[in-house]
Amino acid sequence: MKKIAHILKSAAPHWVGNGFHVNNLFMYEQAAEVLSPFLLLDYGAPKQFAPSTQPRGVGRHPHRGFETVTVAYQGEIEHHDSEGNKGVIGPGDVQWMTAASGIVHEEWLNPPFNARGGVLEMAQLWVNLPAKDKMTPPRYQEIVNAQIPEVVAEGGARVRVIAGEFAGEGGPAMTYSPINVWDVQLKTDQSLDLTVEAGYTTMFAVLKGSVRVNGADSVKSPALVVLDRDGTEAKLEALEDASVLVLNGEPINEPVVGSGPFVMNTRNEIMQAMRDFQSGKFVRSAAVAG
Ligand code: MN
Repeated sequence: MKKIAHILKSAAPHWVGNGFHVNNLFMYEQAAEVLSPFLLLDYGAPKQFAPSTQPRGVGRHPHRGFETVTVAYQGEIEHHDSEGNKGVIGPGDVQWMTAASGIVHEEWLNPPFNARGGVLEMAQLWVNLPAKDKMTPPRYQEIVNAQIPEVVAEGGARVRVIAGEFAGEGGPAMTYSPINVWDVQLKTDQSLDLTVEAGYTTMFAVLKGSVRVNGADSVKSPALVVLDRDGTEAKLEALEDASVLVLNGEPINEPVVGSGPFVMNTRNEIMQAMRDFQSGKFVRSAAVAG
């Protein structure tokens, strides 16, 4: 069984714009090498929004050098960007946006959902790109619930394969480096046995409920469990109904230098990103966001 390297309790929730009330589970500035290839995870626990005509979310902002992965659990999120991509994701859907060389986008509660009000539950993961792919053209993958295979594991846990492979089922997301993203739902007393590649980063983001990890520590949400890279076996047991995002991937052994919405390899590249954004170079399409 893998050893547990770290258990990080989430900080108090904060607002991203006026639409996403999230707990940060990890942020690359804390320990880029340990988390690699993942950079950040925010989780918005179920939150009731009253009906509103006021837009709620985050207006135009840039990204460069990585990917943003938005998972909708409840409610609806709308996106549009400087490449002309537009989409609404709802329960079970995922938006996998590769910012790469640069994108400007907006993220909102979908206006009809915002108007009628309701419960929003979502997560946003940032995935780093290898240096060689940081300046490739942006890419947008809208992945609907029906495209995501679901495996019922021996211990009863339900595993939705968003990226990578689990029990022979391949996930729909295309990625730039080897990554597994598994959305796991467990009822009380259900369990999940995992076999992962030795040497990869493996993390359990415990979003809801509480679990016992590798037969040892019990962990209450919201929290992040980072497993040691040695070994291949891991286990989750639900102490109560739980939702866990399993993140597994090959570490990218390159320097990580970030500032706000840009994550590159050097300080110079960050300065260049700021200049390129300010001079409008992120907007290549006539279909401008906003
Ligand atoms: Mn964004």
